[in-house]
Amino acid sequence: MRYNKIRKMDISNGPGVRVSIFIQGCTFNCKNCFNPETHDFAGGQEFTDETIQKVLSLGEMEHIVGLSILGGEPMHPNNIAGTEKLAKAWKERYPNKSIWVWSGFLFENLKDKSVLKYVDVLVDGQFVDSLKDFRLKYCGSSNQRVIDVQKSLKEGKTIILSEDEVKK
Ligand code: SF4
Repeated sequence: MRYNKIRKMDISNGPGVRVSIFIQGCTFNCKNCFNPETHDFAGGQEFTDETIQKVLSLGEMEHIVGLSILGGEPMHPNNIAGTEKLAKAWKERYPNKSIWVWSGFLFENLKDKSVLKYVDVLVDGQFVDSLKDFRLKYCGSSNQRVIDVQKSLKEGKTIILSEDEVKK
C-alpha cells in the first residue's frame, strides 16, 4: 500500500482535532473528485511500519481525539490489509480514540471485512457530483452516509448517525 499524505492536526475530517491519513489509489473516478492526486496506485509514498509508528506517535497528544483514514480508497483490495494493520495498531494503542474511515464502497459490501472490527464510523458511498451539498459536515454528496459501524455490526442492520449523535 502507498499513502498520499498525513495531517497531524485535521479539524475538517471528522469531529474534534484528529490525525488523518490519505491512502493512495482509487479506481472509482467519481466526477469532480476532491482528491484526484490520490487515484494513482503508484503515486504517493510507501506505507511501512515506520508510517504506522509515525501515525501512532502523532496520536499521543491529548487534544487528538481520533484517526481519520481517507483516500484514495482505503478499502480497495490493494489497500484494505494496510488499512486494517493501521487501524488495529491505533485501536490497540488508543482504545478510546475513534477511527473514522471514508470509502466509496457501501457498508453492506464491507460488513464482512475484518478491518471493520477496528472502525467506529464509516462514511460510505462514492461522491456523486449531482448530489453535492456543501452543508453536509462529513460528506461531499447527499447519498453518502455516516454509519455507526460497531452498532450496525451488532444489530445486523445499517445504523446511520445524525450530526447530533457524532460526539468524537
Ligand atoms: S471514491 Fe473518493 S477518492 Fe475515489 S474517485 Fe470517488 S471521491 Fe475520489
